[in-house]
Amino acid sequence: MTDQLLARARRDYLDRNPESHRRHLAAARVMPGGNTRTVLHHPPFPLTIVAGAASRIVDADGHEYLDFLGDYTAGLLGHRHPRVRETVMAALDVNTSVGGHHPDEARLGALMCARFGIDKVRFTNSGTEANLMAITAARIITGRSTVMVMEYGYHGGVLYFGATAAPWSAPYPYAMAPFNDLATVAAVAETHHDDLAAIIVEPMMGGAGCLPAEPGFLAGVVEIAHRVGALAIFDEVMTSRHGRSGLAALQGAQSDLTTFGKYIAGGFSFGAFGGTDAAMAIFDPTEPGAVSHAGTFNNNVASMAVGVAVLGELYTADLAVAHTARGEEFRAAVAQVLAGHDLPLVACGYGSMMTIVARAERPRNGADAADRDAALQERLHLGLLARGIWTAARGMVNLSLPLTDDDLAAFLTAVDETCAELA
Ligand code: PLP
Repeated sequence: MTDQLLARARRDYLDRNPESHRRHLAAARVMPGGNTRTVLHHPPFPLTIVAGAASRIVDADGHEYLDFLGDYTAGLLGHRHPRVRETVMAALDVNTSVGGHHPDEARLGALMCARFGIDKVRFTNSGTEANLMAITAARIITGRSTVMVMEYGYHGGVLYFGATAAPWSAPYPYAMAPFNDLATVAAVAETHHDDLAAIIVEPMMGGAGCLPAEPGFLAGVVEIAHRVGALAIFDEVMTSRHGRSGLAALQGAQSDLTTFGKYIAGGFSFGAFGGTDAAMAIFDPTEPGAVSHAGTFNNNVASMAVGVAVLGELYTADLAVAHTARGEEFRAAVAQVLAGHDLPLVACGYGSMMTIVARAERPRNGADAADRDAALQERLHLGLLARGIWTAARGMVNLSLPLTDDDLAAFLTAVDETCAELA
């Protein structure tokens, strides 16, 4: 029965989206599966987006959607933000690609250090690179090799984990422990005590289903890392949007190194890693034997300029606090709608990030969240799309700033109607 319902939902989707289907098939002639960013693929085929403005996007068949995905957190400002456009144009009027330093790098550096409580920062092109560099720093500083990661953690295209590391993950020796399980983290750290370089952890596991660290977990991870002489790295690529200084700060935890990305450059390529003077000093090229951290586009003009505008005026600490509170209220409203239906769906998350996971019980870690009803998850996604609501196939929802109260109400109605249909 479930299979038939899913097959029917896919057929309806194909009927509604012939032009996106045509474009998908054409793209597949030149890119494997028509894809260059794996997370965007979902069955039966992904739609092609041809336009966007503020909180709305339009697909190739002319359907308009309320964008509740916010590009997996990078799209916090919404589409075609006038200040972002102005900032980029003004920056490009001065220069395009500079083989030298320019003022916006240090401006953005100052904003990041003040906002996120770090002593020093360096920029990269992506969150993946930021994590690779932070891990590299920890390995060089400690003279050790092993990296502890959480099961089902995600730190980038080549730092991809399920119960074990994906075969395409960067070839470090990994030690794994379940998220939110300090006893096992401590035991695994003890086993690897003479070779553990770092423990890297997301303050809220994003890809795994928006699973926040339980109180005390992050501080416990830092304590365990330090006990065995390793560094603690917080991956705040997604979660630095929460509160004044990111989710770890809200939980009172302080890492040696923190990584950033996504929304900070307003939709342009971005990554950064920073931390204590002690951890970052190895990159100081005025010192003999410094570690080289190269990258043609590390200081690219557009990302640096927009980053200054985002942290300086478009997403101030006060606004971040308000947006986080708005997200908390919204998730509670979604949970209330879900509770009105007899379906295994739970709203997980924190602040302006949420995942509706097709599972009866609230997941505590990645293994729990992976154990979900895949067919129901897909039907929820297709049902929301049919009602003009854009979310991730895996159920992820991220609030962008331009979403209005009416937009949020429209989301609740769409979830309610879709759940009625799914039951
Ligand atoms: N770390 C986390 C927690 C992420 O969610 C992501 C991307 O989704 C990354 C790192 C990788 O960032 P990027 O896609 O910019 O390489």
